[in-house]
Amino acid sequence: MFDAIAQEIPLQRIYLYGRELWVKRLDLVHPQISGNKFYKLKYNFLAAQAEGYQQVLTFGGAYSNHITATAYTAQLFGWKSIGIIRGQELANCALNPTLNLAQHMGMQFEFVSRERYRQKNEAEFLQQLQQTYPHTYIIPEGGSNRLAIQGCQEILTADDLHQFDVICCAVGTGGTIAGLIEASLPHQKILGFSALKGDFLTQEVQQLTSKKNWQITDEFCCGGYAKTTPELLTFIRAFEKEHAIPLEQIYTGKMLFGLSSMIQRGEFNAGERILLIHTGGLQGRHIDLPDLNQTAE
Ligand SMILES: *Cc1c(COP(=O)(O)O)cnc(C)c1O
Repeated sequence: MFDAIAQEIPLQRIYLYGRELWVKRLDLVHPQISGNKFYKLKYNFLAAQAEGYQQVLTFGGAYSNHITATAYTAQLFGWKSIGIIRGQELANCALNPTLNLAQHMGMQFEFVSRERYRQKNEAEFLQQLQQTYPHTYIIPEGGSNRLAIQGCQEILTADDLHQFDVICCAVGTGGTIAGLIEASLPHQKILGFSALKGDFLTQEVQQLTSKKNWQITDEFCCGGYAKTTPELLTFIRAFEKEHAIPLEQIYTGKMLFGLSSMIQRGEFNAGERILLIHTGGLQGRHIDLPDLNQTAE
């Protein structure tokens, strides 16, 4: 199923402050199951299918790319999907575009308080959900589990492993970078740009891999998850105009903003060949950014 619907993934060369970089356009892997989510869901759905499930349940915030990707994949399989959404107050509001899209693809929502949502990995909460929604395959928040890491190892091809020294990606829950780290060769360095504030992600990724050739920085998180600064938005607009590669402000925009600062500070050696993973997520792009069609002349 997944291999049959995957589009070819271009490697696009760009220059940032005179530095050559290659962008791996995972955003083009599939029009709805965008970017890294395609790889994270692949083995989860295949395992669920092999075990005879026809219903999936997962967790996410109101702007979660994982929620829409799961809803779409479930629809492709002809399954039901349930989204446990953070924020009880949302139950009484009009749905935002992300949730609207997911609902359109048949996802049923349960809105829970932030406090309840925090228990999303606890056995007691999961057991209750299994009772409320019997015969349901549960995927954790952001889809990050062993099967997701297995899928994300497939992001890097043999050519990528031989051609690049530094591989950059945006980090949310850490599943994607864990897959890249597991696939990487010892001489390669995997550099993660966190979309969230704090160093807890480094500890979480340490639980997922025993390798040491990686690093995650939160220096460019712009204050925290889904927060933006005028500098970030200005950077994204200018980047999109110059390179014709769409970004969004939660993940890929921050990665490129950070990388651009690091290049300006001279943090990479001259000969190092750099690969950026464009993890997609463009369904969430509408917030605070102009319509791309209007900015592209
Ligand atoms: C979900 C997402 C990420 C984060 O992936 P993790 O595996 O949770 O670290 C990065 N970029 C985009 C565009 C995403 O949608």
